[in-house]
Amino acid sequence: MESECYYCRGIVLTDEDDDILLDDHADHQVYMHKRCGESHNVIQERTESTATVEITCPECGAVEIH
Ligand SMILES: [Zn+2]
Ligand SMILES: [Zn+2]
Repeated sequence: MESECYYCRGIVLTDEDDDILLDDHADHQVYMHKRCGESHNVIQERTESTATVEITCPECGAVEIH
């Protein structure tokens, strides 16, 4: 399964650790590369767990935990 990055329009592979799919959004699916989200400040590392990040959906502003 693959789609386009929200920011750079490059291919996102959802089985790659550094590629992100926001899929809890009723009318839109957002894919992005981790590096693209970081460069647009929508990805925040959680200080208590380096394995978990908070991602702000660029479409609706909801925050997802990954
Ligand atoms: Zn990208
Ligand atoms: Zn959304």
